Amino acid sequence: MIPVIALVGRPNVGKSTLFNQLTRSRDALVADFAGLTRDRKYGEARLGSRPYVVIDTGGISGDEEGIDSQMAGQSLAAIEEADAVLFMVDGREGLNATDEALARHLRQRNKAFHLVVNKIDGIDADVATSDFYTLGVESLFAIAASHGRGVSSMIETVLEGF
Ligand code: GDP
Ligand code: MG
Repeated sequence: MIPVIALVGRPNVGKSTLFNQLTRSRDALVADFAGLTRDRKYGEARLGSRPYVVIDTGGISGDEEGIDSQMAGQSLAAIEEADAVLFMVDGREGLNATDEALARHLRQRNKAFHLVVNKIDGIDADVATSDFYTLGVESLFAIAASHGRGVSSMIETVLEGF
């Protein structure tokens, strides 16, 4: 089984940066994994010799009315087909109403997620993450996707579940 990891979160939290970091120097697009469509952006990644698939999503904008309209259809679909969801938030901006709406959605769907507090380069990680525990977090990682900080140990932990 090749685990599928979806990156979800509102725009600008760093999903594509993490996607590129994880899939760097690989053939970026793969569409030949069973059950996956071409609608979303899939990348093949590897931890050591272990392959996994990452899905980048366009994200959720915060200015619509309901959670369903807030979430692009492809983000919803990515959540459904993922074995693991990395829910990304911005450690510099702190908790946001859109983050809360997405957390509610994931709980409604009974989807376990790992909370990924990104952009902790140059700031205090403990302070940056403290804001987010109200989301009801079981698993939290503090990373700096653009620097690669915390990234491989996070993936290692996430893949341990499979
Ligand atoms: P997306 O909309 O969620 O895909 O976010 P992007 O990956 O496009 O990143 C949005 C912005 O955040 C870009 O300007 C990135 O360079 C920046 N960014 C991403 N990761 C980090 C990080 O770890 N630290 C800092 N300081 N900026 C980051
Ligand atoms: Mg993006």
